[in-house]
Amino acid sequence: EAAAKAAATTADTGGPTIFDNIIAKEIPSNIVYEDEKVLAFRDINPQAPVHVLVIPKVRDGLTGLDKAEPRHAEILGQLLYTAKVVAEKEGLANGYRVVINNGGEGCQSVYHLHVHVLGGRQMKWPPG
Ligand code: ADP
Repeated sequence: EAAAKAAATTADTGGPTIFDNIIAKEIPSNIVYEDEKVLAFRDINPQAPVHVLVIPKVRDGLTGLDKAEPRHAEILGQLLYTAKVVAEKEGLANGYRVVINNGGEGCQSVYHLHVHVLGGRQMKWPPG
Protein backbone atom coordinates (compact mmCIF):
# COMPACT_ATOMS: atom_id res chain seq x y z
CA GLU A 1 0.00 0.00 0.00
CA ALA A 2 2.87 2.34 0.84
CA ALA A 3 4.46 1.55 -2.52
CA ALA A 4 1.21 2.27 -4.35
CA LYS A 5 0.85 5.59 -2.52
CA ALA A 6 4.43 6.57 -3.31
CA ALA A 7 3.97 5.62 -6.93
CA ALA A 8 0.87 7.80 -7.11
CA THR A 9 2.74 10.89 -6.00
CA THR A 10 3.73 13.41 -8.64
CA ALA A 11 7.32 14.35 -9.35
CA ASP A 12 8.92 17.63 -8.32
CA THR A 13 8.87 19.43 -11.67
CA GLY A 14 9.11 22.90 -10.17
CA GLY A 15 5.98 23.81 -12.13
CA PRO A 16 2.83 25.47 -10.79
CA THR A 17 0.66 23.52 -8.37
CA ILE A 18 -2.96 23.63 -7.29
CA PHE A 19 -1.85 25.66 -4.27
CA ASP A 20 -1.08 28.58 -6.63
CA ASN A 21 -4.78 28.59 -7.57
CA ILE A 22 -5.74 28.45 -3.90
CA ILE A 23 -3.43 31.38 -3.03
CA ALA A 24 -4.85 33.36 -5.98
CA LYS A 25 -8.38 32.39 -4.79
CA GLU A 26 -9.11 31.05 -8.26
CA ILE A 27 -10.36 27.89 -6.62
CA PRO A 28 -12.19 27.91 -3.32
CA SER A 29 -10.64 26.83 -0.05
CA ASN A 30 -11.73 26.92 3.54
CA ILE A 31 -9.29 29.41 5.04
CA VAL A 32 -8.50 29.11 8.74
CA TYR A 33 -5.77 31.75 8.99
CA GLU A 34 -4.10 34.17 6.62
CA ASP A 35 -1.49 36.90 6.82
CA GLU A 36 0.93 38.55 4.39
CA LYS A 37 3.25 35.55 4.22
CA VAL A 38 1.25 32.41 4.94
CA LEU A 39 -2.12 30.83 4.24
CA ALA A 40 -3.75 28.06 6.27
CA PHE A 41 -6.73 26.19 4.84
CA ARG A 42 -8.59 22.93 5.45
CA ASP A 43 -7.35 19.83 3.65
CA ILE A 44 -9.87 18.66 1.03
CA ASN A 45 -9.29 15.03 2.08
CA PRO A 46 -9.00 15.26 5.87
CA GLN A 47 -7.15 12.49 7.70
CA ALA A 48 -8.36 13.65 11.12
CA PRO A 49 -11.28 15.74 12.47
CA VAL A 50 -8.96 18.75 12.13
CA HIS A 51 -6.62 18.71 9.11
CA VAL A 52 -5.23 22.06 8.04
CA LEU A 53 -2.43 22.85 5.58
CA VAL A 54 -0.12 25.81 6.20
CA ILE A 55 1.70 27.12 3.13
CA PRO A 56 3.94 30.02 2.16
CA LYS A 57 2.13 32.45 -0.19
CA VAL A 58 5.34 32.75 -2.21
CA ARG A 59 6.99 29.38 -2.91
CA ASP A 60 10.43 30.87 -3.65
CA GLY A 61 11.87 27.51 -4.71
CA LEU A 62 10.44 25.64 -1.73
CA THR A 63 8.82 22.83 -3.67
CA GLY A 64 9.72 20.67 -0.70
CA LEU A 65 11.66 20.85 2.54
CA ASP A 66 14.66 19.31 0.77
CA LYS A 67 15.03 22.56 -1.21
CA ALA A 68 15.40 24.69 1.91
CA GLU A 69 18.27 27.20 1.89
CA PRO A 70 19.44 29.61 4.57
CA ARG A 71 17.25 32.36 3.04
CA HIS A 72 14.17 30.29 3.84
CA ALA A 73 14.80 30.18 7.58
CA GLU A 74 12.33 32.98 8.35
CA ILE A 75 9.43 31.57 6.33
CA LEU A 76 10.11 28.08 7.72
CA GLY A 77 9.80 29.51 11.20
CA GLN A 78 6.62 31.35 10.26
CA LEU A 79 5.06 28.14 8.91
CA LEU A 80 5.79 26.26 12.12
CA TYR A 81 4.63 29.14 14.29
CA THR A 82 1.42 29.34 12.23
CA ALA A 83 0.89 25.61 12.80
CA LYS A 84 0.80 26.38 16.52
CA VAL A 85 -1.59 29.32 16.01
CA VAL A 86 -3.90 27.12 13.92
CA ALA A 87 -3.83 24.31 16.51
CA GLU A 88 -4.79 26.80 19.20
CA LYS A 89 -7.56 28.33 17.06
CA GLU A 90 -8.91 24.87 16.34
CA GLY A 91 -9.03 24.04 20.05
CA LEU A 92 -6.49 21.22 19.95
CA ALA A 93 -5.60 21.63 23.61
CA ASN A 94 -5.09 17.89 24.11
CA GLY A 95 -2.41 17.62 21.44
CA TYR A 96 -1.94 17.45 17.72
CA ARG A 97 0.52 16.41 15.06
CA VAL A 98 2.53 18.54 12.62
CA VAL A 99 3.81 16.78 9.48
CA ILE A 100 5.83 17.67 6.39
CA ASN A 101 5.85 14.96 3.71
CA ASN A 102 8.92 15.17 1.50
CA GLY A 103 9.50 13.46 -1.84
CA GLY A 104 8.25 10.16 -3.16
CA GLU A 105 9.01 7.99 -0.15
CA GLY A 106 7.58 10.73 2.07
CA CYS A 107 4.32 10.54 0.07
CA GLN A 108 4.48 14.17 -1.01
CA SER A 109 1.96 14.85 -3.77
CA VAL A 110 1.88 18.65 -4.03
CA TYR A 111 5.23 20.31 -4.68
CA HIS A 112 4.67 23.55 -2.79
CA LEU A 113 5.98 23.20 0.74
CA HIS A 114 3.15 22.67 3.20
CA VAL A 115 2.82 21.81 6.86
CA HIS A 116 -0.01 19.48 7.83
CA VAL A 117 -1.71 20.17 11.18
CA LEU A 118 -3.71 17.13 12.29
CA GLY A 119 -5.77 16.73 15.43
CA GLY A 120 -9.05 15.97 17.10
CA ARG A 121 -8.33 12.28 17.57
CA GLN A 122 -5.69 10.09 19.19
CA MET A 123 -2.72 9.81 16.82
CA LYS A 124 -0.68 6.63 16.41
CA TRP A 125 3.04 6.14 16.24
CA PRO A 126 4.84 5.15 14.09
CA PRO A 127 2.98 6.73 11.14
CA GLY A 128 2.32 4.56 8.11
P1 ADP B 1 -0.40 13.53 0.42
O1 ADP B 1 -1.35 13.71 -0.74
O2 ADP B 1 0.28 12.19 0.44
O3 ADP B 1 -0.95 13.93 1.75
P2 ADP B 1 1.14 15.97 0.50
O4 ADP B 1 1.88 15.99 1.79
O5 ADP B 1 1.80 16.56 -0.71
O6 ADP B 1 0.78 14.51 0.09
O7 ADP B 1 -0.24 16.69 0.80
C1 ADP B 1 -1.00 17.34 -0.16
C2 ADP B 1 -2.32 17.60 0.50
O8 ADP B 1 -3.05 18.55 -0.27
C3 ADP B 1 -3.20 16.34 0.61
O9 ADP B 1 -3.49 16.08 1.97
C4 ADP B 1 -4.43 16.72 -0.21
O10 ADP B 1 -5.62 16.20 0.33
C5 ADP B 1 -4.39 18.23 -0.17
N1 ADP B 1 -5.07 18.92 -1.25
C6 ADP B 1 -4.94 18.69 -2.57
N2 ADP B 1 -5.74 19.52 -3.27
C7 ADP B 1 -6.37 20.30 -2.37
C8 ADP B 1 -7.32 21.36 -2.46
N3 ADP B 1 -7.79 21.80 -3.63
N4 ADP B 1 -7.77 21.93 -1.32
C9 ADP B 1 -7.32 21.51 -0.13
N5 ADP B 1 -6.41 20.53 0.03
C10 ADP B 1 -5.95 19.92 -1.08
